[in-house]
Amino acid sequence: MKINVFGNGKMNKIVLYGVPLDCKELKNVIDEYCEDVEVIAFTCDSYYGIKIDRDGEEVDTISLGTAQRMLKQGEIDGLVTVANRSNYIIIRKYIEKEIWHHPRFYACPLNVLPTEPKTEELIRSIFSNFTGAEINTLQFLVTENCNLKCKLCSHFAPLVKEPAVYDFKQFKKDLYRCSELLPNTSAIGLWGGEALLCPNLEDYIEESYKAFPYSTISVGTNCLILKNASRKLLDYMKRDNFKLNLTIYPPMEDKIEEIIGLLQKEGIRYRLSRTNVVTEFGRRYELSGNNDIDERYDECFEKFCTTVINGKFSPCYFPLLSHRFNEYFGKKYFETEDEIFDLYDESLTKEKVGKIMLTPLRSCRYCGTMDMEKWERCPQNSKLSDWVKDA
Ligand code: SF4
Ligand code: SF4
Repeated sequence: MKINVFGNGKMNKIVLYGVPLDCKELKNVIDEYCEDVEVIAFTCDSYYGIKIDRDGEEVDTISLGTAQRMLKQGEIDGLVTVANRSNYIIIRKYIEKEIWHHPRFYACPLNVLPTEPKTEELIRSIFSNFTGAEINTLQFLVTENCNLKCKLCSHFAPLVKEPAVYDFKQFKKDLYRCSELLPNTSAIGLWGGEALLCPNLEDYIEESYKAFPYSTISVGTNCLILKNASRKLLDYMKRDNFKLNLTIYPPMEDKIEEIIGLLQKEGIRYRLSRTNVVTEFGRRYELSGNNDIDERYDECFEKFCTTVINGKFSPCYFPLLSHRFNEYFGKKYFETEDEIFDLYDESLTKEKVGKIMLTPLRSCRYCGTMDMEKWERCPQNSKLSDWVKDA
């Protein structure tokens, strides 16, 4: 299949901007499927001036400044970035405003690369304008309970008193609704609380594979009960597009080698948090809610933590989970309803979701700058002062 993308009767010269490996892969896709498009260069400032070699073929790298100038002066017919929401928000800082609104500045969703078969619609999406609904990890909180109970847990898991497991039927329904609204999702994260406390977690994994066959499926765990995982669950974790996200806290520090040994023996892909052991937690929430929303949003990486639970979603987990705090302390301290969205609202479209994902949250007013404290467990009878900066 060869597609005439622009249909203007000429060969259109384009430049690709992004991570070199993604650019190389995208070039291969364009070469194979696009009749009237020629990739003439990659743009990556850290490789600027180097020819990137792939299978004996060399492609020039030019600076982003040069690529933007060429687009403005009509020397190239398009500048394409390979983007999901987080790298889009990061790269937009480097792109001139004029380019941003240029009709030939395109954002190719990241999942164009692994998706097979490559349909015409998929190939055409390489040359689409960014919607905002390109998600890096879509987090489903399969259980809100946790067996570790860290003080300052940003999900308020130690304050959840009753068993709180994501009902499987509802999960399945929500998962497929998300696959309609957010098809450009690079990874599905099954998170908690402690995800391994979710009974029949393998069913949640299996359903995620089915609903998002070209996304990575990952499970987040503090590893406390990993060695008790059933044979069935371990087998479900062995697939190529699965990744176990390990976060090690001090009580498990001396077990790291044992855990890694188990995963290597089983052939399960994993990712260990960069610091290996989390020894500090951040104190951030402020009851006063006086923070500057735009400033806090701009600086915060949690805005990429698009979270889904029980038919609702939010661009960040805080609006969805703050009720746990309010219930525990018996007062509506945090008012975050504005950013809790109903997945089944009939007026929702991909475009509307994209807009939601790019809009600072009113809830950000409760988040101050992060003060780091030594990690410890949450006391049994927790006080406000265990959680917020201004109790
Ligand atoms: S392990 Fe994670 S979910 Fe559990 S209490 Fe600690 S931070 Fe929260
Ligand atoms: S509410 Fe805003 S500032 Fe707070 S964690 Fe979420 S995105 Fe970050």
